[in-house]
Amino acid sequence: MLITHYDIRLFYKCPMLLYLSYHGPKDEMSVHPILKTRKRDSQSKELTFKQLASRIKGTSIAIDNEKHIINQSWIGNRSYASKVDKLEKGNVNSPFDASIYIPTFFRSNARARKPLMMEGTFATYILSEFYDNPVDYFIIRSKNGDTEYPVENYISELTSDLPLIYKLKSGEQSISPNYTRGCRVCEWRYYCRNLAADTLDLTLVSGIGKRVKKVLFSHDITDIPSLATADLSTLKDEGLLTKDLEYFQLQAKSLMEKKAIIRKKMSFPTPKIELFVDVEGSSHHDFVWIIGCLIRKNGIDEYKSFLANSPREEKTMIVAFLDYISSIDDDYTLYHWSAAEPQYFINLVDKYNITRSEVHKIRNHSIDLFDIFKENIILPIYTYTLKDVANWLGFQWHEPLTDGATSIILFDNWYLRNDVKSLEKAISYNSDDCKALMIAKDYVLKTLS
Ligand code: SF4
Repeated sequence: MLITHYDIRLFYKCPMLLYLSYHGPKDEMSVHPILKTRKRDSQSKELTFKQLASRIKGTSIAIDNEKHIINQSWIGNRSYASKVDKLEKGNVNSPFDASIYIPTFFRSNARARKPLMMEGTFATYILSEFYDNPVDYFIIRSKNGDTEYPVENYISELTSDLPLIYKLKSGEQSISPNYTRGCRVCEWRYYCRNLAADTLDLTLVSGIGKRVKKVLFSHDITDIPSLATADLSTLKDEGLLTKDLEYFQLQAKSLMEKKAIIRKKMSFPTPKIELFVDVEGSSHHDFVWIIGCLIRKNGIDEYKSFLANSPREEKTMIVAFLDYISSIDDDYTLYHWSAAEPQYFINLVDKYNITRSEVHKIRNHSIDLFDIFKENIILPIYTYTLKDVANWLGFQWHEPLTDGATSIILFDNWYLRNDVKSLEKAISYNSDDCKALMIAKDYVLKTLS
């Protein structure tokens, strides 16, 4: 059986993902229709074994002929194969580098997250082991130029994981899911969540990942019920913060009792105007495309959106939003979810060198509802996304399948293909986000004050 760079990528995203990709019940997958199209497109590019062998042979011939650059190359043997965007001879001024091929990957940004780091390590491993090409780094080529990534500290991890990767891909070994933040955008999320829920897995508790789960297991705390009743003092030497452990335990209790737990009350401002603000960026094109704002005044609410249809309109958009803020009564509070929104405003005025006092005022008039939930209210939910919290409070989005990721894709459909319907959907999703903020705010006011 062949292990490819694709398997390496899946394994380091999540070992369960590798297993399910080959052995999971396909009818349990839940891929958003938009993402499904993209997936199908990329899958159609998969090669047959014969094609693969021929590509690998082509690369070997090019290497034997000492070609300086080999584009879109496949390297490997019967056990391992990896696609590399470019194999290029190293620095000609260095006698050592000039004789070896360096694997280069083209990416939109230079950051090598763990899956890409290990994919690059895999390519260097194949080149070193099977091509007599002792390379110890790879390159990511992005719009910011070339970034070199040494693999020295990753090789032993890769080689010790390869037997497990083999067993998971072949189905010789199965695995149970760790339900973490990354699961939210995974096509197996419902399947894994149900598996984890069946066993009341500890990773369903918000904040518990693989590492904490391992520590808890070593103290015979193996599921949510045992965490809910555990004596936390036995964990004091494990390097975990007491406040985190107390939080995990309350979360476990809330899940067992299926009810909210209030940790502490707090007071709230009573402004004349309330603004519920949600900002969306186009991650692929590096600009903010919408500042959505639900305005509530005298009990009446109205949604307003400030749009940038392209990067060129981003400055006009932030200026229009700041003009709007300066036009309203100073007695306002701006509610948002997570620290991202105020930071977006600061980044935008910095980016365009705009001097506006409103940005500092906004910061002083802002309340992060996510922080309030995390600090003061424990809910019987698995993650504290705005969507999960508002869903628990009974709010439903008009477009149930849409989430943050698909909202980005919808905007891309507008930006790249002029698809007006996609833009309308993306705005409608933003408007629902703002409404969800309002529901969440009303709940905390009622519950905490
Ligand atoms: S839902 Fe989570 S645990 Fe399951 S395969 Fe996806 S990332 Fe892995």
